[in-house]
Amino acid sequence: MTRAQFVAAARERGRTAHAALEAYRALFREGVVPAWCEVPDYPVTATLVEGATSKFVLRLTDAGMEGLETESVLIPMPRASGTTTTLCVSSQIGCAMGCRFCETAQMGLIKNLRADQIVHQWWSATHRVPRPTDPARTHGVKNIVFMGMGEPTDNIDEVIQAIRVLVDHDGAGVPASNISISTVGNPDGIRKIGELVREEGFHRLNLALSLNAPNDRVRTEIMPVNRAWPMARLKDALLEFPRYSQAAFCVEYVLIPGVNDSDEHCDEVCAFLREIRCSLNVIPYNPRRNSPWPAPDELSVARFMARAVANGQFTKRRGTKGRNVMAACGQLGNEKIRARRYIAEDGSAKPVSLGIPAAKPASAAQTTQTEQRP
Ligand code: SF4
Repeated sequence: MTRAQFVAAARERGRTAHAALEAYRALFREGVVPAWCEVPDYPVTATLVEGATSKFVLRLTDAGMEGLETESVLIPMPRASGTTTTLCVSSQIGCAMGCRFCETAQMGLIKNLRADQIVHQWWSATHRVPRPTDPARTHGVKNIVFMGMGEPTDNIDEVIQAIRVLVDHDGAGVPASNISISTVGNPDGIRKIGELVREEGFHRLNLALSLNAPNDRVRTEIMPVNRAWPMARLKDALLEFPRYSQAAFCVEYVLIPGVNDSDEHCDEVCAFLREIRCSLNVIPYNPRRNSPWPAPDELSVARFMARAVANGQFTKRRGTKGRNVMAACGQLGNEKIRARRYIAEDGSAKPVSLGIPAAKPASAAQTTQTEQRP
């Protein structure tokens, strides 16, 4: 709940507005759960670490969702001014998009997360999750990226409600400019995000597009969603998106050897992006389990980036963190919850068909970035 929703609900239960506001602040800022509030205490069932990057799993206890697990990644970001922390959150358990390069896609969609379960990932990261390299949690969560499990536009109403809560000044207080939503490019979802961005206080919310291909043929091969939302529609949706700041869109490009990494591919991508003010984020592919492709070698990553820069495209490279613990981009997905079933709100389960809508780029979670300007 936002502060206003929380106060209204508390007043219905006989609390004063002042007491409700104090409780809301204590809950978000200090992690103190008021006795009269129902906040599930999800066990943090695992924390795996590579270097200072950690993945944590919340075991849900809600009726109908018992035992299901969210996955989130905490990524320390060294900056000149000191280390900050980026939190990569999941918007779904599993994903229906079926991107061929993605571990999560192997699960299918199991469950949409509710807004409170999305916010709970921030709350747990801020107040509960042990951080082996930062036991006092001195580096608070500064940035939030919706790049964990799931396609945010496939659960957009809950994602938007979660964002409204996360930016609330009396609660989490994360500036909209520090939040990014990454999507495979559902044009309707992009339009809904655009409506939110038009609201006061949300103008600087960031949108990232998971492109990953130079043309429709390659994109459809690795991202089945492209059949429903081909690249021309994507471009139209991006060109219509409201732009309030100088910030560029982030276009993510998972570089997969032999699939989308040739010089010709690079030229095609740059031509496609020419009309869009954007930054091209090159993400060296992190092999999923049983992957048909290896990770790209350094030389081919460097060559692709240099060519993009020569084409006049602002380009960044996303460094890989967490690959050894399956916490890197596109690697989230818990082996234990692979029953390919979607559990509906009423608790019933039904098979989910994979590969109809498509995928957002691999979770962007892990990001040391090197920029190259033309
Ligand atoms: S890359 Fe993103 S959108 Fe695609 S299957 Fe994985 S989690 Fe879903």
